[in-house]
Amino acid sequence: MMPPAVVPDAAWLQNPRQAAACRRRLLAWYGEHKRDLPWRRSDDPYAVWLSEVMLQQTRVATARSYYERFLQRFPTIFDLAVAAEGEVLKAWEGLGYYSRAQNLQRAARVVVADHDGKLPDTYAGLLALPGIGPYTAAAISSIVFDRPHPALDGNVMRVLCRLLRLEGDPRRTPARVQMIRAGEALMPKTGTGDLNQALIELGARVCLPTRPRCAECPVTNWCRARAELDDPSVLPMRPRRKERPHLQVTAGIIRRAGKLLIAQRPPGGMLAGLWEFPGGKQEPEESLAECLRREIMEELGIIIDVEEEIACVDHEFTHLSITLHAFAARYRSGRTRAIACSAFEWIDVGRLHDYAIPRADHLVLEALTAGGASLHDFINRE
Ligand code: SF4
Repeated sequence: MMPPAVVPDAAWLQNPRQAAACRRRLLAWYGEHKRDLPWRRSDDPYAVWLSEVMLQQTRVATARSYYERFLQRFPTIFDLAVAAEGEVLKAWEGLGYYSRAQNLQRAARVVVADHDGKLPDTYAGLLALPGIGPYTAAAISSIVFDRPHPALDGNVMRVLCRLLRLEGDPRRTPARVQMIRAGEALMPKTGTGDLNQALIELGARVCLPTRPRCAECPVTNWCRARAELDDPSVLPMRPRRKERPHLQVTAGIIRRAGKLLIAQRPPGGMLAGLWEFPGGKQEPEESLAECLRREIMEELGIIIDVEEEIACVDHEFTHLSITLHAFAARYRSGRTRAIACSAFEWIDVGRLHDYAIPRADHLVLEALTAGGASLHDFINRE
């Protein structure tokens, strides 16, 4: 069946023949153009699940190397379930959004304890697991179990908003309902995972956020935004972002008799469970050195001598950005206690790579060791 010469309105998706023609075109394009990605070669539900979690907020090229290393380290859901959380965070180190790794392990433990190690094969069953939301449940249930649930990630929402010319905020219910209906109308009887992946691939490679390549698009003849707007990239509507706060934060590279002090972040908050150079946020009217002394007393109960600032790095999180000022510091007195952290350790510098530490602290280490300086020499100086 030929596509319509002019897209009449969003009702074309309710016409099964038009929906089938659009689906055929989309799937044919996907079959020809899909990237050869390691998780697409696997039918192991655990591996597909891992890839979907890693790909949230992460580029394909980055996720790829982490995916392969993670599977070497934890080849099965049972390996992941019994691992220490520190090992899992270490394997995730640098990927960011660490609660994804913690939830993945929590869910693995539930699957092992309650489902004999087998991932539930329904959308509802998957949704009941920690850290699995509507997108991930739809993606896994379609790719692995051939269930007909549209997987609405950012790429798919962009494609559908343009195809249907949806002008509401795609994250709100009215637009979401229309996108789910559209996804269901396009869904084949079998091979539902391919349909979801075809839409994801189209959004990632053709229907780009600012410069959609409409001339190369397999569904251009069904696209209302292309037919009716001068610039399809005005869709989806983007709610205005709130200004992100910017914080000044201090950290101490604190030494004592050749050992380095690190602290573990408390559960529940940002970067929970990771190890860091201790410190915290500057208060109004406080110098950076005063901030660091106060934070170390509040967090670990010890008095330190703050020396020179040795690194200053900028880092961005989703909801805030920071400038991290790292100072050399020396232990002076007091008994080290985990007051406002989960744990602390005085370690030999050589053991630092055994701990998962946040990206900003890695940047501090890079700045500190630039030009051939050694952290070992630094910690052992007088
Ligand atoms: S025609 Fe253009 S705007 Fe429409 S789905 Fe294709 S790439 Fe996106």
